[in-house]
Amino acid sequence: MATGNINVSVENIFPLIKKFLYSDHEIFLRELISNATDATLKLKHLTSIGEAKVEYGNPIIDIKLDKEAKTISIIDQGLGMTADEVEKYINQVAFSGAEEFLEKYKDSAQDSGIIGHFGLGFYSAFMVAEKVEIITKSYKDEPAAHWVCDGSPTFTLEQADKTERGTEIVLHVSEDETEFLEEGRISELLTKYNKFMPVPIKFGTKTETLPKPEDAKEEDPAPTQEVDNIINNPNPAWTKKPADLEDENYKGFYRELYPMQFEDPLFHIHLNVDHPFNLTGILYFPKLSGDMSMQKDRIQLYQNQVFVTDNVEGIVPEFLTMLRGVIDSPDIPLNVSRSYLQADGAVKKISGYITRKVADKLNSLFKNNREDFEAKWNDIKVVIEYGMLSEDKFYDKAEKFALYPTVDNTFFTFEELKEKIKDSQTDKDGKLVVLYASNKDAQHSYIQAAKDKGYEVLLLDSPIVSHLIQKLESSNENTTFVRVDGDHVDNLIKKDDNVISKLSDEEKEVLKTTIEKVVPTETFTVQVEAMDSQAAPFIITQSEFMRRMKEMQATGGGGINMFGNMPENYNLVVNGNSEFVGKINEASTDEVKEGLIKQALDLAKLSQNLLTGEDLTNFIKRSFDLI
Ligand code: ADP
Ligand code: MG
Repeated sequence: MATGNINVSVENIFPLIKKFLYSDHEIFLRELISNATDATLKLKHLTSIGEAKVEYGNPIIDIKLDKEAKTISIIDQGLGMTADEVEKYINQVAFSGAEEFLEKYKDSAQDSGIIGHFGLGFYSAFMVAEKVEIITKSYKDEPAAHWVCDGSPTFTLEQADKTERGTEIVLHVSEDETEFLEEGRISELLTKYNKFMPVPIKFGTKTETLPKPEDAKEEDPAPTQEVDNIINNPNPAWTKKPADLEDENYKGFYRELYPMQFEDPLFHIHLNVDHPFNLTGILYFPKLSGDMSMQKDRIQLYQNQVFVTDNVEGIVPEFLTMLRGVIDSPDIPLNVSRSYLQADGAVKKISGYITRKVADKLNSLFKNNREDFEAKWNDIKVVIEYGMLSEDKFYDKAEKFALYPTVDNTFFTFEELKEKIKDSQTDKDGKLVVLYASNKDAQHSYIQAAKDKGYEVLLLDSPIVSHLIQKLESSNENTTFVRVDGDHVDNLIKKDDNVISKLSDEEKEVLKTTIEKVVPTETFTVQVEAMDSQAAPFIITQSEFMRRMKEMQATGGGGINMFGNMPENYNLVVNGNSEFVGKINEASTDEVKEGLIKQALDLAKLSQNLLTGEDLTNFIKRSFDLI
């Protein structure tokens, strides 16, 4: 048997890092600005604990573009490096000075906001540069150092004459990466990744208009001055304490995040946790439109104020990806693949925490200002209903605040609704019958019929409602949901004053046979019932079960496609007690009889929105003939 060491040589690793470490070349700027920020924050920390006896001042990070020289420079006023430190931190690939710093100062620097992690960020510079220079002067009393490397594992390191503290990284941009010499491209990157980084970042200058002096003449132009163009807001709202922010500040920050969004958010949730993981952020409930897929990818993920991604899949539970806002966690690794992220324990806990916070916020909104919550319900219900379906933990919490509006805009919680209908809406087996409509206009006559009986009719019109109902029924054993046109309310709900049938069982059979001769029985199952004489003579209903299964299939219920292919099937409920039935029986000829039945059927179809095409044309003609 032979044993030995696998020989990893830098010559082999280096090109691999360049090529495969980051899929996106553009992140080099994010990495270098992160290092410049770290260098600045480290100095801030060292001065604050008295270890660095220098003036911290108001350091900024300067990004300079030189198209002629084909260079990008990132200049900071941070702690700098001595020649020895360059040897140690830069020449050792995958040795993170950031982690070393946090380890060394772990008692005091936990919250310092240091970004670095893996000790690889610096080398991303070689994805876009054929040569990289570091000119750096430490805050310590040592000469400046100048390091140059052309992307091969050899480098030069010599003294430099830089006198101000800090580090300048110069990238000599390679031929095929010249897009990064365009001002517009760099601007775009700065806005994307660095908009909320904690140290001010300057990119060029801008002209600012000053107020006119008192004695200026009308025609005198207002004076101007060139000022630093600072591209970031170093203190974004999510890094502040909720107590220090007003509603207006939250709205302002929303506009900062989404400058193209003109509508205010409905409300916000300020996230702030430091145990068992660190996470801050602000989530907003926007006004949602019907199309759910359009709304995704609006939450931005940051790590210590550095933008990471706006694809938060796996970190935020799916039903909350319709929200907007920012999540910032130093515990979310910056440079790793998505599949790794989803398996990460910290990430899983984050998802659970966010779900809980959102539920708690909704609950407090509901409790503190129910009226306002009701007013917003239609704009937020999709998220809540979707959450109730997909996350059991959320369902348990949402039971307290999920609302069920009636067609007349009374909002019940499910408990309240059950209490309200417990005596008036039960079926033969004593089950509670929840009546609902999905469309006020299409089901108008059915709604009216149910309301006339004094029943409560809910308006449940979101696209996933059939799934939700299924869930509600399985969690509330003694409850059944029926759409107003699902079955005739008189059949459904047990009543004390049972209507006495005008027809004998035999007469009912005869009537049924007569009607079946006229109506297409492959579509309609005829049923003669004794109902209130004032109720409509012919009523079309559709089995709740069949309809719901079809709907669920259409909105992605999964499983086999059993119901989608079934022909449409309806019940034709005939009111045996209506005067109209008497007219059928008394009709002088079979022709008159048939005409009456056809007309009644068409009227019933009309109220179910089922009368179309040739049937509609015939109906109109027949109706004109009648008048
Ligand atoms: P990380 O940031 O994860 O530590 P990097 O590869 O990005 O790894 O950087 C390596 C190390 O080089 C840093 O930890 C830091 O010690 C040093 N360094 C890089 N850029 C600067 C800078 N602008 N000023 C001071 N030190 C720097
Ligand atoms: Mg770094």
